[in-house]
Amino acid sequence: MRKLVASLLALAVLQGCAGAQFALPQLSDAEITHAALAVQGDASSLPRYDRSDSENRDIVSRVGDRLRVIAPPLCAHAEVKRCAWTIRYVAEDEVNAYASGSDEIAIYRGLLRHLKTDDEIAAVIGHEIGHHLAEHVEEKQDNALIGAILAGLVTGGLMALGGYQSPSYDPNAAQRMVNDSMQLGAAVGAISYSKEQEREADLLGAYLIARAGYDLRAAGNIYKVLAQMNSGHIHSGWFDSHPAGPERIAAWEKAIAEVEASPDRLPEID
Ligand SMILES: [Zn+2]
Repeated sequence: MRKLVASLLALAVLQGCAGAQFALPQLSDAEITHAALAVQGDASSLPRYDRSDSENRDIVSRVGDRLRVIAPPLCAHAEVKRCAWTIRYVAEDEVNAYASGSDEIAIYRGLLRHLKTDDEIAAVIGHEIGHHLAEHVEEKQDNALIGAILAGLVTGGLMALGGYQSPSYDPNAAQRMVNDSMQLGAAVGAISYSKEQEREADLLGAYLIARAGYDLRAAGNIYKVLAQMNSGHIHSGWFDSHPAGPERIAAWEKAIAEVEASPDRLPEID
């Protein structure tokens, strides 16, 4: 029975995971290998930029405002209902940033400490806005819901097959089992974004921050910093959900070429 539930859940997660909506840059092995050379050292050799919480708050609101102002053409192109995001600074040392709800973004002190310029900070916020533009948060919630329903159905169905006839059948315990398995199903569906969704958020972020006049090359340093932190095994919410490696660096290079070819263009819908 456990096997059956697990395989149905896996199926639900696979089917629920949407691919990218926008055309992602294609990468060759050579480009990824080349990008890997840009990652030198590990987390211990990363510079730190300690700022006060009030300085951090100022930077986050300054960058957030600048991105919000230029976002409407991208929002219209992506056909999203909301084009204003609440960007919250979290004064905690965890290395983290995330998008949640319908319009929320959080960025932590622990991550800002490793970012030097507004361009880099714009890349992180732009990436999280990218998740909203591509409606990944909703897709994640859909996955969680599909997982929960399927797990509940499977458990309920199996219990109905065997349980009702049993003299020791306890309807309360049965309901608890259904609830537990639904929670498990929801958790499986909600674990993280797919790699494609991450790259899609990177691409949309590139379009967004370029329109706001940030320097894409300077901003791209964030992906080197992340890869370096990753090799130093700093674990955080950001890394649990954000694969950091040479692919992202290589994809960013491609995104720069795509965006710079025509600054007014919008990302191609796949
Ligand atoms: Zn992400």
